[in-house]
Amino acid sequence: MEIIEKKIAGHEKVLFGKDQEAGYRGIIAIHSTALGPALGGTRLWSYADDEEGLTDVLRLSRGMTYKNALAGLPLGGGKSIIFAPGKNGTILDRETLFRAHGRFIETLSGSYITAEDVATTTKDMGFVSQETKHVVGLAERSGDPSPVTAHGVFRAILASATYRWSSADLTGKTIAIQGCGSVGYHLGRELHQAGAQLIVTDIDPERAQRLADEFAAAAVAPEQIYGARADIFAPCALGGIINDQTLPQLRVEIVAGAANNQLLADHHGEALAARNILYAPDYVANAGGVINVCIGALGWEPMYTRTKVNEIYDTILNIFRLAESEEIPTSKAADRLAEERLAGRAANESLVAAGAVA
Ligand code: NAD
Repeated sequence: MEIIEKKIAGHEKVLFGKDQEAGYRGIIAIHSTALGPALGGTRLWSYADDEEGLTDVLRLSRGMTYKNALAGLPLGGGKSIIFAPGKNGTILDRETLFRAHGRFIETLSGSYITAEDVATTTKDMGFVSQETKHVVGLAERSGDPSPVTAHGVFRAILASATYRWSSADLTGKTIAIQGCGSVGYHLGRELHQAGAQLIVTDIDPERAQRLADEFAAAAVAPEQIYGARADIFAPCALGGIINDQTLPQLRVEIVAGAANNQLLADHHGEALAARNILYAPDYVANAGGVINVCIGALGWEPMYTRTKVNEIYDTILNIFRLAESEEIPTSKAADRLAEERLAGRAANESLVAAGAVA
C-alpha cells in the first residue's frame, strides 16, 4: 500500500492510499479526534477526478465531527472514499477492493473507524473486517439502523411540536413524509401510533402504498409532497430538497426528517427561518444511525443506545432556544453548539449566557 499524506488546514489528517495490485485508490480524511476516534463511513463513488473526491471526503468528514459531537458520542469525525475502479465504475472484485481498504484503515491503528455508507454494504464491511478490527455496522453486530434512526427523527418531531405548539401531542396533526424506504416506513409507523395523519410519497409507488395500507396514509405523487397541506414535512429520501424551487411551495410549520443535507445551500436555513418554518437540523435529527453503531464501536448495550437516541429531543430543544435567543437559523445554532462541545466548553454555555436555560 502506497500512502501519501496531504496537509489540509482544518483537518487533522488526510491520507491518499493506493494498492496497484488490488486496483484500489482511496482517501481517508480525519477531521477531528478531539472527542475520540474518528468515526464515519466509507463511500464508494465514481468521481470525475481526484479533486472532486477530495472535496467530498473533506466535507463529509467535517460533517461527522459535528454529528458525533451533538449526538453526545465520545467519537470524533472522519470519512473515507474509494474511487470506483473499472469502466463506468464497474466493480469486478469487491473482496479485493474492500480488503485493500481494510489494510489502509489498519495503518491508522484505530484513530479512524469505518462503517457502511453510500454504495457500500454490510457485506463489504465484512471484507474490511478481515484486515482490521476498526470497522462497525457489521450485519451480525448492531444490525439494521433504520428503526433507530426513525425513532430519533420521531423524537426530533416531538421536540419541534413542543417548541412550536407547546404540546408534543401529535393527535390530529398531519405529517407529510417524502420517501417510504427503510427510515420513512418506521417513522410512519411511530407517527401513526402517535395519532398523526400521514401524507406520503415515493418514486416507487408500492412503497408509498404500503404506508397507505398499514397506516391509513394518503399517497400522493412525488412532486405534490412539497405543496401538501400539512403541519410537518419529514424529508426521508434525498438531500438538497429544501431549495429555491421547493421552499415557496411549503405550507408547513415544521421541517424535521431523516434525509442528509436537506438544505441545498446554507442560506436555505435562513430562508426557512424567514418563512417562520421551524427546521430541526438534519444531522441532529438523524443521529440515531450513528448512535446505533456504538453498539459495535463502543460496546454499548441497546438500552443505553435507546437512551442516547431519546436525548435527541433535548438537543433539538436546546438548538431552538439558542437560535431564538441569538436570532440565528436553527442550522447555524446546531453548528455553534457542536463547535462549543469541540472546543471543550460546556455545550450549554452560550445557552446560559443567552438566558435560554437556567
Ligand atoms: P432508503 O433508500 O431505504 O429509502 C429512501 C426512499 O426514498 C426510497 O424508497 C426511494 O424510492 C425514495 N425516493 C428517492 N427519491 C425520491 C423522490 N424524489 N421522491 C420521493 N421518494 C424518493 O433510504 P433510508 O435508509 O430510508 O434513508 C433515507 C434518508 O435518510 C437518506 O437520505 C439517508 O441518507 C438518511 N439517513 C438514513 C439513515 C439510516 O439509518 N438508514 C441514517 C441517517 C440518515
